[in-house]
Amino acid sequence: MGMRELGSAIRTARIKAGISQKMLADRIGLSRESISNYERGEVQVLSPALLEMFAATLGMDPRNLARIAGYLSPGDDPATNSSGMKTALITGITGQDGTYLAEFLISKGYKVYGMVRGQHNPKQELVQTMIPALEFVEGDLLDQSSLVAVLEITQPDEVYNLGAISFVPLSWKQPVLTGEVTGLGVVRLLEAIRMTNPRTRFYQASSSEMFGRVREVPQTELTPFAPRSPYGFAKAYGHYATVNYRESYGLFACSGILFNHESPRRGLEFVTRKITHGVARIVAGKQHELALGDLRPQRDWGYAGDYVRAMWAMLQQDEADDYVVASGETHTIEEFATRAFAAVGLDWHDYVRSDPKFYRPAEVNLLIGKAEKAERVLGWEPTIDFANLVGMMVQADLEKEGITA
Ligand code: NAP
Repeated sequence: MGMRELGSAIRTARIKAGISQKMLADRIGLSRESISNYERGEVQVLSPALLEMFAATLGMDPRNLARIAGYLSPGDDPATNSSGMKTALITGITGQDGTYLAEFLISKGYKVYGMVRGQHNPKQELVQTMIPALEFVEGDLLDQSSLVAVLEITQPDEVYNLGAISFVPLSWKQPVLTGEVTGLGVVRLLEAIRMTNPRTRFYQASSSEMFGRVREVPQTELTPFAPRSPYGFAKAYGHYATVNYRESYGLFACSGILFNHESPRRGLEFVTRKITHGVARIVAGKQHELALGDLRPQRDWGYAGDYVRAMWAMLQQDEADDYVVASGETHTIEEFATRAFAAVGLDWHDYVRSDPKFYRPAEVNLLIGKAEKAERVLGWEPTIDFANLVGMMVQADLEKEGITA
């Protein structure tokens, strides 16, 4: 390996990206002749900064380039800091996925920072108790300069953007805020990465809600989007921003199109948790009925603890890409309720009332994903199926009510 091989790798990546020598020269700030010399292997050394710029502009992994140039032996990894630890920043740390992802990354030896917003976020204390190794930084997806500051303070190797207004019904009530946080927030973070360190790897939490009025069944990475809510179209904007920053600036930016994933940590406003929490309270005698919306929509439900592994795996690949993450099964909300009530020996018909007040203005009737690419490329597969997921959530809510089986 050496400069000739490096030149050839740069040339191949440039042609694959459809970029001319002149365009590459302009983006990197060199002359076209210099690019030509590099590609012919006629330059003796390449500075680390320039190597990173080639990598970022061509969407390549700088570690691979450094290895090809002979600067690194195969096991070396310059993406780790001086203590040998990788650093990750998670936005949305106080949400369901944030805590599972933080625990997973810490178990892998990462130093993890979680971004929190607000003057006093009461969830911060709960998360700190749950994950003592986690450090917090203050920032908001609405505030560009706070994001730049957060990146400068934390210097992350990997950024996971989980922060969002994520509750679909709320997105109709606050569509502009949803667009600002869930859509434009992604661009603010990508811009901050571009300004501070374009080598930072980026994960965007995209959603199956982008498929909306589905164009095909099952949905894959190639299925066109047809969002049916302000949340869905804000997520589509964030998804396309992620793809565009990868293609325009060579950022290592991945979009995970995740189908619904649940857990005992799911917020109480989401229908699955509303059901399991309701079941536990009915058993405890604290509630006698459960008002839900439309029971017919079908969703592809998995376990959040499984899905965060896919997020991490996306950022460990040689090339950035987009992946559907799903269980491949679909069930109605009625089926979820049936199982949850049956788990405590009750019949849901006796307790559940469908209240039009909770109907969405435009419903997504059927979601079912095909995660073949994630399974093949990332080696990802879920460990918890639908029945076990419902059982786990009911059990956890019963325990919270002090009821043990
Ligand atoms: P979640 O529990 O609703 O958490 C959302 C997080 O976003 C919270 O930590 C919240 O923090 C934060 N947030 C809200 N506004 C913010 C702002 N202006 N700046 C920074 N952070 C802000 O969501 P989740 O279930 O963990 O999902 C994680 C991500 O995956 C979300 O982007 C969601 O849309 C997406 N997703 C989820 C699913 C799913 O089924 N769970 C499926 C597909 C995609 P506060 O404590 O400050 O409110």
